[in-house]
Order: sequence, then C-alpha cells, then structure tokens
Amino acid sequence: MFCDLHMHSTASDGTHAPAELARLALAAGLGAIALTDHDTTAGLPACAAACAESGVAFVPGIELSADPGAIWTDIGQAPPERLGTLHILGYFIRHDEPGLQAIHRRLLDARAQRNPRIIANLQALGVEIAYDDVLELARAEGSRVVGRPHIAQVLLKKGYVKSIQDAFARYIGEGKAAYARTDLLPPREAIEAIHGTGGLASMAHPVQLRCHDDAAMDRAVVCLRSWGLDALETRHTDHTPAQVDRYGKLAARLGLLTTGGSDFHGERKPIGLGNQRVPMEVLDRLRAAAKAGG
Ligand code: AMP
Ligand code: ZN
Ligand code: FE
Ligand code: FE
Repeated sequence: MFCDLHMHSTASDGTHAPAELARLALAAGLGAIALTDHDTTAGLPACAAACAESGVAFVPGIELSADPGAIWTDIGQAPPERLGTLHILGYFIRHDEPGLQAIHRRLLDARAQRNPRIIANLQALGVEIAYDDVLELARAEGSRVVGRPHIAQVLLKKGYVKSIQDAFARYIGEGKAAYARTDLLPPREAIEAIHGTGGLASMAHPVQLRCHDDAAMDRAVVCLRSWGLDALETRHTDHTPAQVDRYGKLAARLGLLTTGGSDFHGERKPIGLGNQRVPMEVLDRLRAAAKAGG
C-alpha cells in the first residue's frame, strides 16, 4: 500500500474540495494522504473528517513559501542566475497554533502585494485582465490563498493562452515577463513555525531550488538542516528517477528523513494522485519522529 504526502485543495490552488481528496485517495487505493495547501491550514478539518469516514489515514500538513535567497546569503555563495523556488512542507502540525496563523496572515499579505504586480505586468503587456477577475474566481472556488494558478485560469478563460501550462510558459512562470515573487518568508522562520506546532519540516521538490550543481545543492540542504530541517522530499512529480536516487542518498548522508508526494492540484495540472507510489514506511518513519520529538 502507498501514501501521497503532497497535494492541494480548493483551500489554496487545487481544484478539488478538501473532502473530495479523501474520496479520490480511497479510489486510488492510497493508505494515507497529507493535505499540504500553500500557506493555509483552512482545508485540514474537512479533509481529516472525510478521511476518517473513508478509512484513509490523514496527516495534517502545510506548504510554506519561503525566500530561497536567504540560503545563498547564509552560505556566502552567489545565487543561481535564475533564483528558484523554496517551499517548506510541514507535517503533523497542530493547525490552530497562533504562531502558524500569524505566518499565514503574513503570507496572505505578501500575496496581496504580489498578485496586483503580476496583473500590472500583464496589463503592461497588453493583456486585458483585472485583479477582480482573479479574486472572483478564487472566491467562487472557496480559496483565500490566491495564486498564479488562479491568474492562469483567468488568462485561459479570456483566451490569452491555450492551457494553464501555456500561461506559465508565456507570462507568469519564473523569469517570464509578468512574473513577480511572493516568497519573502525567511526559511528559518518557516521551519521554526512548523516546529512550534509540533510538526516536522521537509524541503519540498529540491529540484525547484535550481541549484548551480550538486555541490551547491548539498550546501543548501546542509544550511537548511542547520536551521532545523527534518526531511527532504525525495519523490516528487518533477524529479527524474536519477534525482529521486540522488536526493535519497543526500538525505541518508545528512541524517534527514524523506517524504514524497505527487503535488496533485486537480484539473489544473496533469498529475495523478498517488503517482509517486510512496511506501507507507516513509510515513511510519515520519510519524515516529513526530511522536518522539515534535
Ligand atoms: P504562487 O504560489 O502563487 O506563486 O503559485 C505557485 C504555484 O503555481 C505552484 O504551486 C504550482 O501549482 C503552480 N506553478 C508554478 N509553476 C508552474 C508551471 N510552470 N506550470 C504550471 N503550474 C505551475
Ligand atoms: Zn500550487
Ligand atoms: Fe511547491
Ligand atoms: Fe505543492
């Protein structure tokens, strides 16, 4: 039996309601899932209840957007030419902890500043789009964490792009003309907030950090570990089999746990729930560590 420890609901930028994810997990034959919405825990209670009904084990999680630049500053290495993405996953979190909710509000603020900049960039490129179009779509889906996938959906609806992927490739992907960053949270604070809720912190999709080379990746993970990182997400849809192997070895060498998941977003991304076939033992080890030290 397998588990999937990385997925999104309509509480952030997925297209399935939290309770629907439990039913999809059951249909996919998964033994356990973790809901890891971007910057919010709003979907956790509904998903937990539906999982209990479906007989699927549930792990309360979150995925915090953090500032990758802090790593390169700390280790005194110039950042890669195109700064990548740093997301910190939290597992076995107590979702109502005030420290985490304070971070949630900060990250919502950061999005409220960033999103209109993307819209302004799009308008400067001649795209007729208003931020209200995006807010309306997110609200209709039940999300308060408004992100680029919502913007992409509006671009698709208005006929500016052929697909969600096309929207990222042409306009709002990292380094594209309308892109703007939102990830201003120091990684150490993200990890500490997760620990403050009794949770464990895992570095999501290491490949997205866009490290210069293997040596830089090693240094980056050592840096994150010095800030308290507990685990590395070795299995992820974006990773090749060779990368899964390499990140697994890196985790073992540094004494880190491993996590894995699909990063399922529903209809917006061609990703199958459970596609990483993460063994239940991965979750068992995580659970044991959370009980022991969390
Ligand atoms: P945001 O947090 O608002 O910057 O949006 C980040 C989310 O956008 C990610 O979690 C993905 O769901 C999605 N995303 C990022 N890059 C791409 C891409 N190239 N194609 C499709 N979706 C993407
Ligand atoms: Zn997402
Ligand atoms: Fe992510
Ligand atoms: Fe994700």
